[in-house]
Amino acid sequence: MSATPILEVKDLKKHFVIQGNAVKAVDGISLHVMPGETLSLVGESGCGKSTVGRAILRLVDLTGGEVVLDGQRIDRLSTTALRPIRQRMQVVFQDPFSSLNPRMRVGDILAEPIRNFGLAEDAADLEARIARLLDTVSLPKDASGRLPHEFSGGQRQRIGIARALAAEPSVIICDEAVSALDVSVKAQIVNLLQDLQRELGLALLFISHDLAIVEHMTHRIAVMYLGKIVEVATRERAFMSPKHPYTYALLSAVPVPEPGRARTRIVLKGDVPSPMNPPKGCRFHTRCPFTFERCRTEEPKLRSVAPGQEAACHLHDLPATENPLPSRAHERAQPWCQ
Ligand code: SF4
Repeated sequence: MSATPILEVKDLKKHFVIQGNAVKAVDGISLHVMPGETLSLVGESGCGKSTVGRAILRLVDLTGGEVVLDGQRIDRLSTTALRPIRQRMQVVFQDPFSSLNPRMRVGDILAEPIRNFGLAEDAADLEARIARLLDTVSLPKDASGRLPHEFSGGQRQRIGIARALAAEPSVIICDEAVSALDVSVKAQIVNLLQDLQRELGLALLFISHDLAIVEHMTHRIAVMYLGKIVEVATRERAFMSPKHPYTYALLSAVPVPEPGRARTRIVLKGDVPSPMNPPKGCRFHTRCPFTFERCRTEEPKLRSVAPGQEAACHLHDLPATENPLPSRAHERAQPWCQ
């Protein structure tokens, strides 16, 4: 992988005003994705992760911060200036049915981005590109002449991926792209995304609440809670030794490959507080089993706590012997970490 991020987000903020109150849906997050890398952005629903995706894509305007694509700041560009940028950054949404025009044949759906971005040399090249795209996502040639409703959910998501690929992007944002699919279809789509990533060097920002899927396909993981990132780590570090109690709690809810194995669970109490009125100090302190006095008054900063791992938690200022956060190494025996 190259040492320069293909996508960088710096101190991104997105606040909404609802009934006169500011809702800080995203409250100053920074992240980066390297070429050919998958970064998964995870958290419970309502944590702000999908808003991050939409802000990066400029589907909503930013309240503050920067978005940099391949070295170019794009968050202040006009709609016209954004056009070529949209070619380089595509999206696959959760619901392939509502994101595909039901009256357009698949061939036309795929032809649209190719025409919009002037990628085909002539009509024969356009047809060849459509045929290649269908082949890439393992759809039959005759799919071109059919309408979206003639396909299953998994096949429609393949059409959505083919449409994203048609633009020849360097980054694809997958916003809960496999959440609506059956387990076996999920695995097929994730495998397809991984194959395409290896083949085309794509960077993926994979927004998901499904940690079981994330574990199998990500390089790094960024965990969001109430509009903030609380932990960023490589997959190995995050799943073997999470350094934030919230990450630990999310991972404790993921089924383990060997159900008989001893497990230490952190069960989350209560609901996510309202982003209209987030708790003072550490935003997680109302649900954290390790809360101590400092957590109620002082907001922890995201900082390096181990090689390849950052966390925002005061526990890391305690002597190691007094840090109550358990390791998960004994309960994880993953093929990728042996
Ligand atoms: Fe829990 Fe305190 Fe760490 Fe927040 S700072 S996660 S409340 S221990």
